[in-house]
Amino acid sequence: MILPTFELHHPTTITELVEIARDLTAQGEAFDYMAGGTDVLPNYKNRLNPRPHVISLARLAGLDEIGVDRIGARALVDDLARSSVLSEHYPGLVEAARSVSSPPLRNLGTIGGNLLLDTRCWYFNQSEFWRESKGYCMKADGDVCLVVPQKEICYATYSGDLAPVLLVLDARVTLVGPDGERTVPLREFYAFDGITRFLKGPAELLTAVDIPSSSRELRTGYRKLRMRDTIEYPVAGVALALHTDGDKVGRLEVAVTGTEAIPLWYGDLDLTGQPATPATAEALQEALVDRVTCYRNVPFPPGYRKAMTGEYARELFSALVG
Ligand SMILES: Cc1cc2nc3c(=O)[nH]c(=O)nc-3n(C[C@H](O)[C@H](O)[C@H](O)COP(=O)(O)OP(=O)(O)OC[C@H]3O[C@@H](n4cnc5c(N)ncnc54)[C@H](O)[C@@H]3O)c2cc1C
Ligand code: SF4
Repeated sequence: MILPTFELHHPTTITELVEIARDLTAQGEAFDYMAGGTDVLPNYKNRLNPRPHVISLARLAGLDEIGVDRIGARALVDDLARSSVLSEHYPGLVEAARSVSSPPLRNLGTIGGNLLLDTRCWYFNQSEFWRESKGYCMKADGDVCLVVPQKEICYATYSGDLAPVLLVLDARVTLVGPDGERTVPLREFYAFDGITRFLKGPAELLTAVDIPSSSRELRTGYRKLRMRDTIEYPVAGVALALHTDGDKVGRLEVAVTGTEAIPLWYGDLDLTGQPATPATAEALQEALVDRVTCYRNVPFPPGYRKAMTGEYARELFSALVG
């Protein structure tokens, strides 16, 4: 498939990038940032909301560091998967990175692009020809949702692997734009709608992901359901972080991906003080299945995906208790 025509911009500094973004915004010209391009370019080929301008991050210096406290937005998924620092402190993040797509894509894809991945849906991730024959939906070119017929909310599924682990680690993201810099807890960053997706201005650049030192006490793990183990998005993924206090749960954090329009952190799943036993693992399984909702717009039936989130939570809890 052939890419549509767009003007490619190649800033070498963040200052230059912000200038370009400010000028294009002032001229009323739409644009996308592009890091590895493994999400942007396939979408452009399918004519899914292509913009006349693309600002590439490829020639920016830096923003690719990987440390225990901070990960630059341009750090490659493959570098996360191979990082000894992350493996020592956050093995769940490394597991999630290793499960992203395939080696060539992990060598191009970045953590920033992964967190900002577009949502996915059977009626959206199709060629122009397919969508025209079926009828367009409101995420691209149409005005109604074909999954849940209404015109207000898009239920396309968020399908990134790294966000749930960063949610249980209580990470924060730093954004830089024409109005300066700000830092937002990841738990408040996503907005429930498959079109809006997150609370980020179009010109804001994600520069870094910070993990608080308090999260180092947590043991982390990640499991995902997918069509093929070799290369596939999660259609249900669970991240767990656990700290035990003696033989009791000291702190438990749970987040899920591949089920709804955004990755979800279940802050109300508080099992603090419960015994770290198989019975508590089963209680967690039941509580999570009660809360998860899945829509019929990615592979596997919603009921199966929902059940698998509970199964993974139970398995992970037992594995992390050790
Ligand atoms: C066949 C296939 C299989 C895949 N499987 C998986 C999978 O299993 N798990 C998974 O998580 N992903 C998967 N992906 C998606 C993708 O490869 C990864 O999520 C990757 O990490 C995306 O990063 P990127 O740098 O390529 O993003 P890009 O394509 O460059 O960007 C993605 C989005 O983020 C925006 N963006 C990127 N960086 C920034 C920034 N710093 N600031 C502001 N905006 C930014 C872009 O504008 C765009 O909207 C798959 C992709 C393909 C094609
Ligand atoms: S959930 Fe509805 S609006 Fe969103 S992409 Fe699918 S069909 Fe389109």
